[in-house]
Amino acid sequence: MAGVCQPDGGLKAVFARLIAATGPITVAHYMAESNARYYGERDPLGRAGDFITAPEISQMFGELIGLWLADLWLRAGRPTPVHYVELGPGRATLARDALAAARRFGLEPKVHFVEASAALAALQRAAFPGAIWHHDLASVPDEGCLLLVANEFLDALPVRQLVRTPGGWRERMIGWDGTGLVALAGERPMDLAVPPQFADAPEGAILETSPAAASIAAEAARRLRGQGGAALIIDYGYDAPQLGSTLQAVRAHARVDALAFPGEADLTAHVDFAALAQIAQAQGAQFLGTVGQGAWLRAMGIAARAQALARAAPEQAEALRAAMDRLTGEQHMGALFKVMGLTAPHWPEGAGF
Ligand code: SAH
Repeated sequence: MAGVCQPDGGLKAVFARLIAATGPITVAHYMAESNARYYGERDPLGRAGDFITAPEISQMFGELIGLWLADLWLRAGRPTPVHYVELGPGRATLARDALAAARRFGLEPKVHFVEASAALAALQRAAFPGAIWHHDLASVPDEGCLLLVANEFLDALPVRQLVRTPGGWRERMIGWDGTGLVALAGERPMDLAVPPQFADAPEGAILETSPAAASIAAEAARRLRGQGGAALIIDYGYDAPQLGSTLQAVRAHARVDALAFPGEADLTAHVDFAALAQIAQAQGAQFLGTVGQGAWLRAMGIAARAQALARAAPEQAEALRAAMDRLTGEQHMGALFKVMGLTAPHWPEGAGF
């Protein structure tokens, strides 16, 4: 343990002490504390940061989301009051582009941001001084319809991992081997937590779930059913049950070892869209579908929007084409990123699904 306990040892030293005192911690605990520290201390977005998200690539992304919301709201009969609720809004770029587009159709909702990071909330406040901030959905008003948006939010929430050992399924834990953090199998049998189709998976197989994402999907769906409204959830993820760890860490635009830089790298896991769709439907929301981001943006008219912007600023034509390709290309964000649509029961169907 010598050398890991200096005051500047950061979160890794904190974990080392914690593990020495009380034993290995769960993957979910590791991910939750690492990301709380990571997002709490910095603005990770953009070229100078660790990663770039779709709204930071082009205004077209947020604009088309704003159009989607405005179109639905108009066809639902312009219900009021109406709340725009964004989960993990980052620099508020998506909200700015979406709400500017929506305003042209008369949609001017109250703005609510669910944000855990003080650093990012300060940036959001500069763009939306009149917004209301929340720690989670619980304090969002329970009257009025909700237009919910989450882009690259659910992937930052902690996942739980189970691993198949010769003795059956165990929780996957993070321990300390004297020099670094290491993954290992917990001691308590977890076989009953594994769905039957995976019970006999080979030794070493990993089953990943996100109780945090599941509970947010359930709450969002319950709110839509009770209050009216619609939700767009966008993230990279998969659409059918699968095995394997998708936990990854990114720092300065490069993949790094997920256990090497806790609190200093962005930890994410792929989103299980099939599970979220099931949960949302069980809570009474109307499930519109889960489609690739490329297909959804094309259906929403990204090509026409790019052309219109290029006509207004011909010197931007090449940059717009490149941005569109990045957002929609199958080899870029078009296929791995997915868009899931939900509405309240009896709301009109949203475009693009
Ligand atoms: N949606 C933005 C930012 C994505 S980064 C964009 O597309 O650019 C993830 C965002 O979720 C950040 O704003 C981060 O601070 C926030 N976040 C991460 N974990 C959170 C949590 N548990 N509760 C609330 N916000 C969280």
